[in-house]
Amino acid sequence: MVAFSLLAALSVSAAAVSAVVAHPHPHPEGSRTRSAPLPDRWYHDEDHPVHALFRSQPTNGKRQSMPEVAWTAQYPASSPDVNDLPQAWLDALNDAKDAGKIPALPPTTYNGVDAPHYPTGIDENRNNATICAATDRVCRIPQDVWDAPDGYMGIGFDDGPTDASPTLYDFLEQQNLSSTHYMIGVYILNNWRNFQMAYDVLEADIAVHTWTHPFMTTLTDEQVLGQLGWTIQIIYDSTDGKVPRFWRPPYGDIDTRVSAIAREVFGMTAMMWNQDTEDWSMASTPPGTTLDQIHTEMTRWLTGPKSPGLIILEHELTNDTVQAFIDAYPMIGQNGWNAISQVQLNSSWTTYQDGEEDDDAFNSFITPSASSSSASESASSGSGSSAASASASDNGLTAESNSSGSTPSFVYPSLVSFGVLVGGILVLM
Ligand SMILES: [Zn+2]
Repeated sequence: MVAFSLLAALSVSAAAVSAVVAHPHPHPEGSRTRSAPLPDRWYHDEDHPVHALFRSQPTNGKRQSMPEVAWTAQYPASSPDVNDLPQAWLDALNDAKDAGKIPALPPTTYNGVDAPHYPTGIDENRNNATICAATDRVCRIPQDVWDAPDGYMGIGFDDGPTDASPTLYDFLEQQNLSSTHYMIGVYILNNWRNFQMAYDVLEADIAVHTWTHPFMTTLTDEQVLGQLGWTIQIIYDSTDGKVPRFWRPPYGDIDTRVSAIAREVFGMTAMMWNQDTEDWSMASTPPGTTLDQIHTEMTRWLTGPKSPGLIILEHELTNDTVQAFIDAYPMIGQNGWNAISQVQLNSSWTTYQDGEEDDDAFNSFITPSASSSSASESASSGSGSSAASASASDNGLTAESNSSGSTPSFVYPSLVSFGVLVGGILVLM
């Protein structure tokens, strides 16, 4: 097992600025019409607790225009303090536990080498349906998403926003390509201009990739709550009130407990993947992979069978990881794949839980008494269809074992967890 160091690759600068900001609005009205393969839209039931969990922050939650201390101070500077979580989140967690919706599994411990382990006596059953520790890449939690529909390639990138993001966003804009971006909370805090670029200019789909990128199964229920809740909160505050519908666990580290907290408390489904470029390891010494090796792998996948469709793990972490996607991009069309943002792979999904196009949804969140019913109403009216009563399990997937892809994706250490904010710049320790 190679010990990878991503200190340089993961360092975050607050000075990232790109000319993309000045670009005219790239998408004509209505250009983002969805073309996903399955029918119907999806919204949470109006009594789903997520509708009551998020309120605008003291600065009124509007577009953050300046990286002022008063703005950044609203959020945790590093790993969220479990003693400083909004009571509404804790209440929702306890309600879900009381209803028997959260498996009572202990947190794992991570030794920095292999997959996180459960206590003796439990770890032996890590790949059964009770635990289904997906970090091993052999067990699939039924409610999580792993595959794209036949013939489709889901486009998505982890670990943004970073200094490398503008290059990627420029390319995606040029290709008029929709994409999902699994964003890290503290990175949004420190690269807010690039977040604006993704959301406002590129009109990309924003999803959650936790606050500080930890191994999620190592955390207590309350720590999981903080990692997901604060990332939703900063996205909510930076998008006039959008609550993401999807998240992705760092290192693919998820089990039934973590998956259930995300789903039952925050209404989010985990988007996994079925191929891994390991692009992040290019920054290691020696490199875990190279641009040439990634191109070979991408060629194999894109010229291979179209069933199931592809969800490939890629990152907007460095210029090299971005280049790996740009190099492979022509092969997507040449081989007849339908390329679409990962959270649009099923047209019954929406990017955000409060609707896709409804700017009024934000107003439903800022008044507690209007939290649940009006949020749902505005979501359904925004789509022009009635709110569907469907659960996350309606993605049609079933539990199965995955004997391929045995190479785990968790081998690089959770360096971001050890970062601290100094003068607005994330310093990794
Ligand atoms: Zn990541």
